[in-house]
Amino acid sequence: MAEYIDSNTLSKLRAISILEVADELGMGLRYHNALCISHNDTHPSLHFWTSTNTCHCFACGWGGDNIDLVMKRENLSFSEACQWLCRRFNISAGNHSAGNRKEVLHRDKAVAEHRKSECDTDRLNLRGEFQHKPDVDYLMRMLMGKKLTDKARDFLFYQRKLRPEYIYWCRVVSTDFSIAGYRFGGKFFDGPSLLIPYYDVHGNLLTVQSRYLGDKTEEKPRFKFAPGSKPMVYGMQILPQVTEKEPLVITEGCTDCWSAMSMGYKAIAIPSATLCNEECRNLLSGRNLHMWPDQDKPGIGLYMKLKEMFPQLVYHQLPEGCKDLSDYYQSFYVQKM
Ligand SMILES: [Zn+2]
Repeated sequence: MAEYIDSNTLSKLRAISILEVADELGMGLRYHNALCISHNDTHPSLHFWTSTNTCHCFACGWGGDNIDLVMKRENLSFSEACQWLCRRFNISAGNHSAGNRKEVLHRDKAVAEHRKSECDTDRLNLRGEFQHKPDVDYLMRMLMGKKLTDKARDFLFYQRKLRPEYIYWCRVVSTDFSIAGYRFGGKFFDGPSLLIPYYDVHGNLLTVQSRYLGDKTEEKPRFKFAPGSKPMVYGMQILPQVTEKEPLVITEGCTDCWSAMSMGYKAIAIPSATLCNEECRNLLSGRNLHMWPDQDKPGIGLYMKLKEMFPQLVYHQLPEGCKDLSDYYQSFYVQKM
């Protein structure tokens, strides 16, 4: 099979950043480190170098370039790994030869074209990085087997004092251990974490976000979206239950959204005005919208931008000393009830 890959294509493949390849493989890179795929790793030992575009495991000694990485991780031959990279990074493998080689390449190209058209709209995230769609089927099955662990219940119900019925309604679950973010992925979501499903207005799962519950001292991001996912508006599945006249609270994130719900409001979260696309604007226009903006520059900025989109949006001032709605809920609302 190796003869199907010409040297021109090969040099294109070798030029793809190994970091992007690791991301595409769902390896959960952190500061150029990941769990090794060659031994049973518990602490990220596999290190990536951008200068050489290679990786090396400090524990078992395994290493290689981006093609070796795909071969090892996906258990593919060299030529299969090259084809995998061509498809995932939309590289067409040349067309100057005859026979079955041409056919193989033609087929690969068709797959790449199909994939390209399928995900053209969400190929770029805010940082301009290459993206694919999240593996929703996998995420759905992953969520089904899970419930709230003791650690998550402690965080949500005792520390944050959120009302369980809303958390269950939002179908939040959790994991104590690190788990994969897509079908062929290694560990991606760090344990212990909340697993927060995002739905569209019809209740279809769009993606999952994790919220890390471990020690703050560890170098782990607090929030992580499933591989191939981008940030999005949270809680749209509530809209069919909200009448046009009924107040709908806009918050900045999931936790504030759950706090608003625990205060008795129907709520969604819009972390950034740029996430409010045309569909979202249509769904929210004409509604009775309210906001308690965070008392910081981004919070007020978000309010101003949303106010331009929705002139009816009502501003509510948080009491002095409260930085966000969760804070308000915990320090005033809970005691009042
Ligand atoms: Zn290793």
